[in-house]
Amino acid sequence: MMRRILATWALALLAVGMPLMTGVAHAAAPQQKSQAPGYYRMMLGDFEITALSDGTFPLKASEVITGIAPKDLDAALSRSFLSDTIEESVNGFLINTGSKLVLIDTGAGVYFGPSVGKLLASLKASGYRPDQVDEIYITHMHGDHIGGLVLDGKAAFPNAVVRASQKEADHWLSKANRAAAPQEAKGDFDAAIKALQPYVSAGKFKPFDGDANLVPGIRAVAAPGHTPGHTVYLAESKGQTLVLWGDTMHVAALQFPDPSLTDNYDADAAAGTAQRKKIFADVAEHRYWVAGAHLSFPGIGHLRSTGAGYTYVHANYTSMQGVGGN
Ligand SMILES: [Zn+2]
Repeated sequence: MMRRILATWALALLAVGMPLMTGVAHAAAPQQKSQAPGYYRMMLGDFEITALSDGTFPLKASEVITGIAPKDLDAALSRSFLSDTIEESVNGFLINTGSKLVLIDTGAGVYFGPSVGKLLASLKASGYRPDQVDEIYITHMHGDHIGGLVLDGKAAFPNAVVRASQKEADHWLSKANRAAAPQEAKGDFDAAIKALQPYVSAGKFKPFDGDANLVPGIRAVAAPGHTPGHTVYLAESKGQTLVLWGDTMHVAALQFPDPSLTDNYDADAAAGTAQRKKIFADVAEHRYWVAGAHLSFPGIGHLRSTGAGYTYVHANYTSMQGVGGN
């Protein structure tokens, strides 16, 4: 009996296999080499959250993260199935509170080359128009977070008010700071001034001091270290909280297991590390949602404490059809 079943299987496999072997033309469909539209959506209580991809860029982990032996760095990356050069996501996040449309960070615009600068296209693909954005909250004024504010020298979001920490504005928009900066750093000041200019000129740039309530359900919390006025934003609706961070971390595979590792992108490494530890601990303890500018897209999930560090648990997929459970 067994022999007959096997024989039948062999015949069936032959029958299936024959056209595959001869039908070469069917295997020659061109590969598409493109990704799904760059947005992902979920609900946070009554708030609709849309993660927007700005694209990705290559980041060499060993140049950003120090304070770890090369073999330990390689082992940690390998544990996450990565090698030293990581395809790093750049994300922005759109929050529709029901009465306001708020964008957190804007991606790189034209500042970082063609592999990024796609946030506007992702926003449109997600069903919104740039002129519908009411408020833009900036985590900090590095090019990959503010570049998308401008399009051909004009405001890319013509009806939006832009808000950021006063400390951040004082640092990056200061001509004196630019003059005092080393030559290779002056470009960062120029980028910030250029990105903010259309909004400053129109009276639509409104900095805030430290911690601040912004629109109902969204507040700013000062998290200095990466830059002088680096800020995280908390969105809260119906008892759910989402912490949106900018450059609190860059390499998930290294910094979640060990938040104490030095991040060379932090202007003040000690303060940056202290913020990272504090924010990770808060997020894990309170079971908050987290959304990260440089977490692998869509960059929304949770942190679970492992004792010494954390495990990142990315969001369970939702079809947005009210199935629930998230
Ligand atoms: Zn960044």
